[in-house]
Amino acid sequence: MRKFTTCLSLAAALLLVGVPAAVEVQPCPIDKTTMTPTGNSRQEEGKTLAEYKCEKGHVYWIAVD
Ligand SMILES: [Zn+2]
Repeated sequence: MRKFTTCLSLAAALLLVGVPAAVEVQPCPIDKTTMTPTGNSRQEEGKTLAEYKCEKGHVYWIAVD
């Protein structure tokens, strides 16, 4: 019984680690500044793309699912 509980805790811990907090967004490839979502999104070929903008104003569409 004790072993069973330990296994469950381990599974829960792995689950927590495995769940991403958010879509990981790379910094702008041009100037390496932080990309922030503009709130715009669109559908393309069955995927959802979200619009991101870096601090210098470069705009990128990033697949979020
Ligand atoms: Zn940029």
